[in-house]
Amino acid sequence: MNFVKYELDKKKIFLVDMSRERTRPFSELAQKALHTFLDQGKRILLINNRSWWSAWMMCHDCGHIPQCDHCDISIAWHKDMHWSFFGICHICKTQYEAKTLCSSCHTENVSLYGMGNQQLQNKLEAEFGVKSLLVESSVANSAKKISQLDHHLSTQNPQVLVWTSLLGNSCEIWRPDLIIVISADSLLHSPHYSASWNNFCFLDWLISWYECEHVILQSYDVEDTSIISACWHDLTGMKKRELKRRQDLNYPPFTEMCLLLYKHEIEENLFWTTHKLYQELLYLRDKYEMNDLEIYATPPLVYKIYGKYRYHIVLKWGGLRNFMEAAYSKLRIAQRGFKIDREPQSL
Ligand SMILES: [Zn+2]
Ligand SMILES: [Zn+2]
Repeated sequence: MNFVKYELDKKKIFLVDMSRERTRPFSELAQKALHTFLDQGKRILLINNRSWWSAWMMCHDCGHIPQCDHCDISIAWHKDMHWSFFGICHICKTQYEAKTLCSSCHTENVSLYGMGNQQLQNKLEAEFGVKSLLVESSVANSAKKISQLDHHLSTQNPQVLVWTSLLGNSCEIWRPDLIIVISADSLLHSPHYSASWNNFCFLDWLISWYECEHVILQSYDVEDTSIISACWHDLTGMKKRELKRRQDLNYPPFTEMCLLLYKHEIEENLFWTTHKLYQELLYLRDKYEMNDLEIYATPPLVYKIYGKYRYHIVLKWGGLRNFMEAAYSKLRIAQRGFKIDREPQSL
């Protein structure tokens, strides 16, 4: 068996190790549960945080992944209302024609990866004979839209909802009998220093919010502390471990951080401007003898957005506020075009 069962009061939580599963996106356990619950006319909530058909395309011959011309991210692939493919950049929204050939080596050996909600719905209909309702942030991002959604749920009463993990506490009207999280570790892959904590909060909320007795969590990282703590509803233990981790790695609340971001269309200008300020900050630190102050320059996770290259200067220290007051006025950081984030959440 590729899963561990946790029991909390009446709830049964099944944590499935996807690295040992042969089927995607549904594990063997999830497939069995889907058949059983659908046959019994019960309601199923599926959580998948990819809102397209496929997250990226890759060539098997040369490994090329088509990227947006203006941003450093792979093009996602959708199907339009006439069921034809097109590509889109989820940052700048530039659209691209569907490709059947690799644009690098011109072979036909290309495939789509990263199952999005459109594809998931298609699979549910083809393999389980059920039409599902897709609820993404765009249909629930205002009070009016949430009330329309609630009305739709109470009148249509769909048997299966496909949800993105970004949605919060709507849909109180519609209570599921089974929850399946396609990837319980998807929130862990963000550059957020509290990614683990956020993942715990989301899973813990999901498990405890609904009076749903059956929850299946699928994960490639079944040893992860945020996932196991959520299975045990262990808020105290998770808090303790998260604080210890942040203390060891010197993250807030044990230190103060500041992030300076510079953007430019020309890479040379980007490097020159960032390097100059970096050197000046180092000089100021040595002058004030603030030896514990950490300063480093690093590119962000997405290096180019909307055609502009980006670079960060990160500052970390318990007494950072005093240093930054001096740095702002002496080095005119904002006037030089740097965006200042005094409480950065992600790196
Ligand atoms: Zn783009
Ligand atoms: Zn290729």
